[in-house]
Amino acid sequence: MDTREDRADASATSTTATTVSASSFCQQISPEEYARQSQEYTRNAIEALKQSSEYMAYLYRCHHCGSVWYHGQYNPGCVQCGDGAMIRPCPICNSRCGAVFTRDAEMSHSFNKAHWNGNCRLPREEQFRLLLPSMDELCAELDDTV
Ligand SMILES: [Zn+2]
Ligand SMILES: [Zn+2]
Repeated sequence: MDTREDRADASATSTTATTVSASSFCQQISPEEYARQSQEYTRNAIEALKQSSEYMAYLYRCHHCGSVWYHGQYNPGCVQCGDGAMIRPCPICNSRCGAVFTRDAEMSHSFNKAHWNGNCRLPREEQFRLLLPSMDELCAELDDTV
């Protein structure tokens, strides 16, 4: 039992050694090695793509009107665009606090409504007071629909 385990260990170490050695580069590579290298290549290519502006422009665009937020475009009348492209002033206090909110593209897409990440710098109580009128409006709207 023990000897078997030892042998398995030894072969595992030697496999690692051949993969690491640089001389194997010029030799004919095994199908496994080919698969590993092409996988590596694909991963690198995807990583590079993710950092490219093309990908960002693809990611940060409005599915509703087609504005490319990444290029600073937005349509003020569009629900998914909201009031900004990549950033917008604090929507909670109407930019009184000076905070900047950033676009959450994933949430904007899945809810088909502009979604922003950020924190209002005003004190909690003040934020609450500012949000209350809109809650009243919302309730009024709900009452109307019933
Ligand atoms: Zn839009
Ligand atoms: Zn604010």
